Amino acid sequence: MKTPLLGSFESSGNGHHTLGPLQHIDLPMRRYRDTDEVDYVIVGCGSAGGVLLQRLSRAGFRVVALEAGPFWNTERDWVSDESGSHKLYWEDLRITGGTDPLAFGANNSGKGVGGGSVHWAAFTPRFHPSDFEVYTRDGLGADWPITYETLRPYYEQLELEMPVAGPAYFPWGHPHGYPYGPHPMGGVGNVLIKGCSSLGIPVSIGGPVAILSGSRANRPHCIYRGYCIQGCKVGAKASTLITHVPDAIANGGEVREYSMAYRIQLGKEGRVTGVHYFDRDGAAWFQRAKAVIVSGYAIETPRLLLNSACPGHEKGLANSSDTVGRYLMAQAGNVVLGRFDQPVRMYKAPPAHALTEEFYETDPRNDFVRGFAIQTVGPLPIAFGKQMVSAKRAWGWGLRREMMDYNHWASLGLLGEILPWPDNRVTLSEERDQFGIRVPHISFSLHDNDHKLIKAAKNKTMEVMHAAGATEVIQEARYAHLVGAARMGNDPRTSVVDKFGRTHDVANLFLCDGSILPTQGSANPGLTIQALAARTADYLIAQGDTIFKNDKRDMTEPAMRQDLAPPDTWGHGVPRVK
Ligand SMILES: Cc1cc2nc3c(=O)[nH]c(=O)nc-3n(C[C@H](O)[C@H](O)[C@H](O)COP(=O)(O)OP(=O)(O)OC[C@H]3O[C@@H](n4cnc5c(N)ncnc54)[C@H](O)[C@@H]3O)c2cc1C
Ligand code: SF4
Repeated sequence: MKTPLLGSFESSGNGHHTLGPLQHIDLPMRRYRDTDEVDYVIVGCGSAGGVLLQRLSRAGFRVVALEAGPFWNTERDWVSDESGSHKLYWEDLRITGGTDPLAFGANNSGKGVGGGSVHWAAFTPRFHPSDFEVYTRDGLGADWPITYETLRPYYEQLELEMPVAGPAYFPWGHPHGYPYGPHPMGGVGNVLIKGCSSLGIPVSIGGPVAILSGSRANRPHCIYRGYCIQGCKVGAKASTLITHVPDAIANGGEVREYSMAYRIQLGKEGRVTGVHYFDRDGAAWFQRAKAVIVSGYAIETPRLLLNSACPGHEKGLANSSDTVGRYLMAQAGNVVLGRFDQPVRMYKAPPAHALTEEFYETDPRNDFVRGFAIQTVGPLPIAFGKQMVSAKRAWGWGLRREMMDYNHWASLGLLGEILPWPDNRVTLSEERDQFGIRVPHISFSLHDNDHKLIKAAKNKTMEVMHAAGATEVIQEARYAHLVGAARMGNDPRTSVVDKFGRTHDVANLFLCDGSILPTQGSANPGLTIQALAARTADYLIAQGDTIFKNDKRDMTEPAMRQDLAPPDTWGHGVPRVK
């Protein structure tokens, strides 16, 4: 093994773990024994799981996070290189179907500590107040069991913890400002500004994005090389791997890497007693726990519940509503590419740095409800090559010529709200993965409202690209950001979990990740997922032992425990426009 410039390559086991050029975990990690009954087992240490682990450990609970992938040692495991970053993704077998099948594999969900927050672009807009009452306003989709105001303090808190850089005034949804200054514009941002400005469309410049615009503590500022979705070896981009997990470990939380949960055990009392999992060698283990939280992503969470079917829960654990796996959502994520005479050099910036939410809300002049956002995306050459294959059918010498022209292209992404439909669904296939666990089958089909919305969003994004001066404009259809499939709601007949993420059917089983979202708006979901996780943690902390002892449901909103945030992450930034 080579010696890195800074820090040493050691495993987490002996108490020295490198997370960036300047960031280390230099404490031994607490390890629970097989026979120990911990307070909480969290399945999945990703966006939501990382925040939960941190909060619950800091509050003094005994917590183990079972993580299917590795505990990244960023200096050893990561490279600033497109083709070298595929191991960040969940590449296990998934079967896709429906009339508009989703693509899985690389560039989908994450695997490894930090989950999808490791490879996300880190766009962090909030959901709008309207997102929480879509059914009431538009007669389609669903209402949330909470309002924007319930989540607002957690948005503000997580924006400090990541932290989020952005403009001092963000005009859409509930207008607000960001605590850290915006980033400078890259070539693609300039294209978005030029196109929107000439059409009279307002643009948010330099964020909101969870990337450091200045150094903070042991994290360096962004160096604008554009490898954000390859993991950001620099440590400037927020991921729970670097923002929350180190504090969890410092407070006695355990992250058990390469631990693939395959069944949740239900005990005689109708309460869960722990989680069965396989280690990296395929050996089966059981972690006893007083309560279980599943944070495995919108596909793996319903998959685990369905694979945990048992007497009394024949359709899957906590699935008396037959809602587990249903109402899966993706956002329309078409990429519109434009060629410019002058070089754009779209790699020279984080992909995420400017957007407009001017078309986010339902507009009565449209023939569809809800809306879309337009954002910068800056594909690196391999992704760009794939887009040229897909959008232009370029191949052979033609593809080579397009790729040599890379520096002259800009790409903008639309983010369109696809509504929750019961037939968009995760079920179990008869096929099995490397552990012998049944794999998920995902059926996805667009409905009338979705088709109309995507068409309008595509046309508007192409109009913006033309208005920016592109001489050629093409587009690739794709999807982004899977959520839903185990939604929250007040009615146990139509939802899986209550407003705190507790399953309606099993009192000590919680879900907390993107799967519980009833609708998704056209904002990237990561901030909302982490804000929900911090709120669920506050609820569990406020409930104390009662979660472990009885089935009574206290629906009182918990007090926000800002004091349990990772140290040095709040009370900073600039005063915000509220
Ligand atoms: C290329 C790309 C760019 C993105 N950019 C953005 C962006 O700019 N902004 C944004 O908001 N969102 C973005 N996203 C989406 C974002 O990453 C996800 O919405 C978010 O990470 C989901 O959080 P989660 O907690 O639901 O799941 P995850 O973060 O995926 O965490 C789930 C974890 O559970 C583990 N796991 C799953 N099943 C098991 C099991 N059975 N046993 C043990 N462990 C298990 C997984 O390995 C994983 O670590 C992007 C996604 C992609 C693919
Ligand atoms: S552009 Fe900034 S955030 Fe992205 S990988 Fe480079 S340093 Fe990290």
